Amino acid sequence: MDYKAAFQTAVEQVRKEGRYRVFADLKRHRGAFPRATWTREDGSEREIVVWCSNDYLGQGQNPVVIEAMHAAIDATGTGSGGTRNISGTTHFHVELEHELADLHGKEAALLFTSGYVSNEATLSTLYKILPGLVVFSDELNHASMISGIRNGGGKRHIYRHNDLAHLEELLLAADPDAPKLIAFESVYSMDGDISDIPGTVALAKKYGAMTYIDEVHAIGMYGPRGGGVAERDGMMAEIDIIEATLGKAFGVMGGYIAADAVIVDAIRSYASGFIFTTSLPPALTAGALASVRYLKAHDELRQQHQERAATLKKMMKDAGLPVMESSVSHIVPVMVGDAVHCKMVSDMLLEDHGVYVQPINYPTVPRGTERLRFTPTPFHTDEMMRDLVGALEKLWAHCNIARLGGRAA
Ligand code: PMP
Repeated sequence: MDYKAAFQTAVEQVRKEGRYRVFADLKRHRGAFPRATWTREDGSEREIVVWCSNDYLGQGQNPVVIEAMHAAIDATGTGSGGTRNISGTTHFHVELEHELADLHGKEAALLFTSGYVSNEATLSTLYKILPGLVVFSDELNHASMISGIRNGGGKRHIYRHNDLAHLEELLLAADPDAPKLIAFESVYSMDGDISDIPGTVALAKKYGAMTYIDEVHAIGMYGPRGGGVAERDGMMAEIDIIEATLGKAFGVMGGYIAADAVIVDAIRSYASGFIFTTSLPPALTAGALASVRYLKAHDELRQQHQERAATLKKMMKDAGLPVMESSVSHIVPVMVGDAVHCKMVSDMLLEDHGVYVQPINYPTVPRGTERLRFTPTPFHTDEMMRDLVGALEKLWAHCNIARLGGRAA
């Protein structure tokens, strides 16, 4: 077996499909967010503005969060030293879980090393706890949810994105006595649309199903205390399991679920992805704790965030750029419509205009719907937005890409 050739073939395949990814090497500077320095492969540098960070509220640069992490490192050292069951539970972990449970109005919360792991570990474990479980999963659910559902090894049905009529059809056709779970997200990160939580919960009640929501792209940003869209919609108590991340709006890293104490206790006791891995470093949990508390108390940051997103959408639409109408959130997706142009525009934005935004290509989105996905933060200024829109207008004309109304320039 020529092992090296096999790896080469695998990489070539990705290249052929136009999916080969190149990392942008970025240097951050404290206090300069969202500005950064990009280092090219030849070592030369360029100042850029980051337009695709999921540090949606700039909490990764918040002095309150930074100081909390410094203080925790000084007080406790670096790693946690073990799994949660074997010496890896520090007081910061315990406090953070209490804080997150409170944020979602739940009895308990459980930390994982990432949002990915929390989805994968929890969803796969639910099949162990509920024999015969049937999961109903929105077709645009994140890869980590899909992976957990597949690895659970039981029955699953995929419903069309946000299509509650289709979900009901599938629920109706399922064994009425089987345990059921509806798994969906609140804000969908590629289209920027928001699911109908009351409608989904109503169906769950009608058919005796549990509900599992991923609030990864909403946590910290929606609801009066940043509890997510379920908080905004007054639906937190109605959802059985709420999952989210500490790595996006909270600006740190890690994931969690919040639920009734007995649900958390069961997941804690059975989920391999929780049991057999070193817990998060205490300093990360201390930073996340400070961040959650900060965002609970700073609704004005959420207001500014929404204002910035609305302003960017308006400026883009006024310039005729095809902002996707699906977006009713802080995410600003702009349709390009083919992989080659999407990559080309992204490369030229970076090299010629100092704008960093990754192309979103297949398989993340369907072919023919390749797009650029902008994530304005409260710290993106009007001037940055004008520069961005000006650069996009030039590139749209240069590449002859369709504008609003479907016409090329
Ligand atoms: N869920 C969704 C919807 C996501 O987009 C992501 C990551 N982008 C995750 C879960 C995973 O979260 P994390 O980055 O904390 O692993």
